Amino acid sequence: MKIGFIGLGNMGGPMAANLAAAGHEVAGFDLHAPMPAGVQDARSAEAAATDADVVITMLPNGAILRSVAAQLVPAMRAGAVLCDCSTVDVDSARAVAEQAQAAGIGALDAPVSGGVGGATAGTLTFMVGGSAAAFATAAALFDVMGAKAVHCGDAGAGQAAKICNNMILGVTMIATCEAFALADKLGLDRQKMFDVVSTSSGYSWSMNAYCPAPGIGPQSPADNDYKPGFAADLMLKDLRLAQQAAEGADADTPLGTAATALYARFVEEEDGTGRDFSAMLPRFASRGRG
Ligand code: NAD
Repeated sequence: MKIGFIGLGNMGGPMAANLAAAGHEVAGFDLHAPMPAGVQDARSAEAAATDADVVITMLPNGAILRSVAAQLVPAMRAGAVLCDCSTVDVDSARAVAEQAQAAGIGALDAPVSGGVGGATAGTLTFMVGGSAAAFATAAALFDVMGAKAVHCGDAGAGQAAKICNNMILGVTMIATCEAFALADKLGLDRQKMFDVVSTSSGYSWSMNAYCPAPGIGPQSPADNDYKPGFAADLMLKDLRLAQQAAEGADADTPLGTAATALYARFVEEEDGTGRDFSAMLPRFASRGRG
């Protein structure tokens, strides 16, 4: 397939390289990042999009996606598919889809989970919103870049699934970290705490697969001095998107609101920037109630 790829950063770079390695013809564009192996330098977003069967975007946020999509859509041929893999607000995803559809172009919002490791290994999970026809066109590419693609519904459904999942993740990570800090103060050994909770009703992905306590449970960023992994800044971004969506949809999300406030404090006022989101554990452990 002929693919245009816009946004070749930490995630987009290895995703584009995997598509090229699988034999697809990939033309790339980024304002700053270098061209990944096997990707042709298209020199502009429009040039990368011309004649492409599928144009993939992997960009920082919804405002940038909207401005890049406004360049891409007029350059794309009718019947092609614009597939945005960035994590953005649901409104931007829907606005870009409408613009594409009005020009006879298929549109997908296909955010991912799995991080840079998953992007490099080609094991991402894609959560996809958009038409069945557009999903069918891009399915072979999801197979190269990922291990799983779930068609979640119409435009915006992929972003909705992503932010709901990550709101659960942020809340359960905080709950797990504050419980470890409480256990410390009660004199409970962390390994015993893990042994009980990981096989009891308090278990979660945060505890069982990504334990925030160093030296306990599976290998995780806690065992690497809390180097990300999944940075606290990115968790804050996703929690804010969930809050924005909740406001727009009039949904009551008190724990999502509390988790957003805690990660905002951690990243913007404390030492959370650049640390893994599980570094909430040393944060709680070093504090009292006051
Ligand atoms: P990144 O900052 O490394 O990459 C973004 C790239 O977009 C940069 O190289 C930048 O130069 C480029 N860019 C910005 N504006 C542009 C424009 N107008 N035209 C062309 N290129 C432009 O970010 P990333 O970590 O690769 O994340 C990309 C997206 O994936 C984000 O939406 C993020 O939330 C999401 N995501 C990231 C992770 C992760 O672990 N890094 C995990 C899941 C989802």
